[in-house]
Amino acid sequence: MSLQRWAITVVGGGVVGLATAGALREAGFDVGLIEQGPPPVADPQDLRMYAIAPGAARGLPADALDDAAHQPFTEMQVWHAGRDGALRFTAAEARVPQLGWIAPESVLRAALWRALPADRCWSGVTVTDLTDHDDGLSLWLDDGRVVRSQLVIACDGARSPLRERAGIAVHAWDYAASGLVADIRAEQPHTQTCWQRFLPDAVIALLPRQGGAYSLVWSSPEAESLAALDDAAFSAALTDTFDGELGPLKVCSPRRLFPLTAQHAEAYFSGRTVLVGDAAHSVHPLAGQGVNLGLGDALELTRVLSEARDAGRDWTRPRVLARYQRARRAANAEMIALTDAMSRGFAPTVPGLSDVLDQGLRWMNQLPPVKRLLIRHAMGL
Ligand SMILES: Cc1cc2nc3c(=O)[nH]c(=O)nc-3n(C[C@H](O)[C@H](O)[C@H](O)COP(=O)(O)OP(=O)(O)OC[C@H]3O[C@@H](n4cnc5c(N)ncnc54)[C@H](O)[C@@H]3O)c2cc1C
Repeated sequence: MSLQRWAITVVGGGVVGLATAGALREAGFDVGLIEQGPPPVADPQDLRMYAIAPGAARGLPADALDDAAHQPFTEMQVWHAGRDGALRFTAAEARVPQLGWIAPESVLRAALWRALPADRCWSGVTVTDLTDHDDGLSLWLDDGRVVRSQLVIACDGARSPLRERAGIAVHAWDYAASGLVADIRAEQPHTQTCWQRFLPDAVIALLPRQGGAYSLVWSSPEAESLAALDDAAFSAALTDTFDGELGPLKVCSPRRLFPLTAQHAEAYFSGRTVLVGDAAHSVHPLAGQGVNLGLGDALELTRVLSEARDAGRDWTRPRVLARYQRARRAANAEMIALTDAMSRGFAPTVPGLSDVLDQGLRWMNQLPPVKRLLIRHAMGL
C-alpha cells in the first residue's frame, strides 16, 4: 500500500474542483487533487459551454480566460414571449469592458489542470472509501493508493458520493424537463450578444461563441422530442420558437440532453469533509450560474481557511468551516430561489406571477440606475 500525505485533498477535477485546488495552492496550502476521469483535453468546439461572470472569474487564475476559444460578450437581450416585457443591457451601461465570457468547459478545465503541478493531480482514480482519524481522514483509492489529509473538499458533482458518505442530506427537486444543448448558426455572425427568450414552459438561450456561431441551451419539457427531430425540422422549430428574431437558425452540431434538477445540501460540511460546487448546490441553468456559484464557494473557502491559518488557529475546526457555510449557503440559497422563481414565474400555472415578472422586465429596462445595479449584481461585482 502506498501512502501519500497532503494537508488538503480536493476530490473531483471539474472546473470548480480545479479552481478550488488552484486557489488553495496559491494561498500557500499543501493541496492535491483526485479525478476519476482522464486529464482534460482542450476542445474549442466543446458543446458544453459556461457563461462566466466577472465576479466569479476572480476565482480563476488571471490568465484562465485569455484563450482565444473564450468569447467575451458585451450585450444581453432578455424577453418574454407574447408580451411586451423585454430587458436589454450592455457592458457600456455597466461601465465594464465585458459582461462575461462564454467558455468551452474542456478548454477551461485543461488550462486549470495545467496550472497545477502534475504530481499533485491524479487522474483515472476513484475515491472508494474514507476513514476517520483523530487528526484527519484517509481516502482509499481504487488503485490501492491511500491519501491522508487534514481536510477533504468534495467537488465531486451533484451526485457527490462523498456527500452521501458524510451523511449530509439534500433538498432536491426536478423540473420534469431537460436542457438541450447544440451549436447554431444564424445568417449573420453574432455581435457578442447573449439572447434569452422566456416562454410559458421553456427558456431558450443563445450564447455567442468564438467563430460566429451560437451555443444553444433550450430548457423544455419537450427537449427529448426536439432532440429526436431531424436537423431541418429541429432548425425550423427553433427559428419559429425564437420568433424569427435572428432570421433562419440552423443547427450545426450533434444535440445533447441534460436532465434539469435543483438541489441544496442541508449542511456544507460534516467533520472534515467540506462541500463545494455542485456537490453543495445545483441550480436551474436558465441564469448560467452553476459554475459561477461554485467559483464563489472556492474563493470564500480559501479566504476563510487562510484567515484562520494566518491567525495561528486550527483551520480544520468546525467553527472555521461554519463561517464558510454561513456565507455561501445564504448566497447560494438566494440564487436557487431566484432561478426557481424565474423558471416557474413565466409558466401559466402560477396565476398573476407571469404578469408581475413581465411588468418587472419592462420597468427595469426603463430605469437605468436600477438596471445598472441589476447588471452588476448578475456579474457578481
Ligand atoms: C444544460 C446545462 C447548462 C449549463 N450551463 C451553465 C452555464 O452556462 N454556466 C454555469 O456556470 N453553469 C452551467 N451549468 C451548470 C454546471 O454544469 C455545473 O454547475 C458545473 O458542472 C459544476 O461543476 P463541479 O466542478 O462542481 O461539478 P462537475 O462538473 O460535475 O465535476 C465533478 C467531477 O468530480 C469527478 N468525480 C465524481 N466522483 C468522484 C470520485 N469518487 N472520485 C474522483 N472523482 C470523482 C467527476 O469525474 C467530475 O469530473 C449548466 C448545467 C446544465 C445541466
